[in-house]
Amino acid sequence: MNEIFVLYSLIYLVIAFCFVYKTDLFISIGLTVENLFESYLGREHDNFIIYHIKRTCITTILHLSIPFGFFTGLSIFKAQKHFVSLLGELSWQVILLGSLALPVYALFVLIFHYQRDWHTHPLVKKLKQFENEQYTSWKAVCNDINTEFKQLDKITLYCGNRMRLVLTRNWIINVGTYNLDFAKQNDARLVVYSADTHDTGSNRYSGVIQFINVKVIFLNETREFSFRSRLHAFDFKDLKDGLQCPITVSQDVTFYQTKVDKFLEIFKEFVENNPPYEVQDEDREMCFGCMTSVANVKLIKNCINSESSNDEVNGVSLQKCVSCECKPLWCVDCMGKWFALRQNQSATETWLSSKCPCPACRRTFCILDVSPVVVKS
Ligand SMILES: [Zn+2]
Ligand SMILES: [Zn+2]
Ligand SMILES: [Zn+2]
Repeated sequence: MNEIFVLYSLIYLVIAFCFVYKTDLFISIGLTVENLFESYLGREHDNFIIYHIKRTCITTILHLSIPFGFFTGLSIFKAQKHFVSLLGELSWQVILLGSLALPVYALFVLIFHYQRDWHTHPLVKKLKQFENEQYTSWKAVCNDINTEFKQLDKITLYCGNRMRLVLTRNWIINVGTYNLDFAKQNDARLVVYSADTHDTGSNRYSGVIQFINVKVIFLNETREFSFRSRLHAFDFKDLKDGLQCPITVSQDVTFYQTKVDKFLEIFKEFVENNPPYEVQDEDREMCFGCMTSVANVKLIKNCINSESSNDEVNGVSLQKCVSCECKPLWCVDCMGKWFALRQNQSATETWLSSKCPCPACRRTFCILDVSPVVVKS
């Protein structure tokens, strides 16, 4: 086999793969549809719907051009001989022209939709489903989504570089490579129907990464529609927080627990049994770590350790605990995570007997010194 043919094919396939799958490298060097066609697409923030109509059209055309690009490259490098000898000159010409037909057809479709002000585009047809007394036309739906997308309180959950789920006050939007799906929060319900766990071998996600597959089911008038999305399992809490509608988890889905999750459960049990710390209700503040829960733990030296020397765990000397003067600033989850992340990650058995500095004043505390905050009656 011709060496140039093999080398060219390999390089072309790798580049095409990285472009289609939007690898981190290609994103960092700007080889993405979003970056290359920035001036045509405009800003997603300015007109979310039109941006994605254009983006999905261009993406489709470019991805369909990949076979034509491949065969053209072969001719340029005079490496098509392999194909010609195998199929004959005529078949080769047919393949070459056939591969051109796909992107040309997609281009005509784009022009067709563009000339009709996008009214005929499949994405607009999806928006038309939501027309009612509130939304008299698809443009009204479009404006509502555009406005909500600009709000700072929207939640965006990424699944790789090609997919994301956006939750705004009233909408659930699934953004994919070639299409988008929409559901109104009021009329929807979500079902986590399956999960898959993968060993990444990297430390970024403590070695194991889990994805959940979600079905968004929504009623429109009397008809039921649905679409599917995929998320990182660690985004499940954010998903729940951003939803106004119910979500159920199918019985055969089990969430993978990281060592930090497992530790948090034990940490919380310990904290519940520690001596409580009383505060006035009006003195309670939001947690400094997550800003979503009330700060419900206070560090007080409850443990009895020798005053003179430092403690030792597994031969590692630990500073002795000191009472911390900080007011309750953190919730039990954030404090537990703070504690866990400051431990030896490869020796979980030492965590419970270990110590950690206060997040604010750096005074040392142990798990016995984390008191639950209770409101004075
Ligand atoms: Zn918190
Ligand atoms: Zn402190
Ligand atoms: Zn202590």
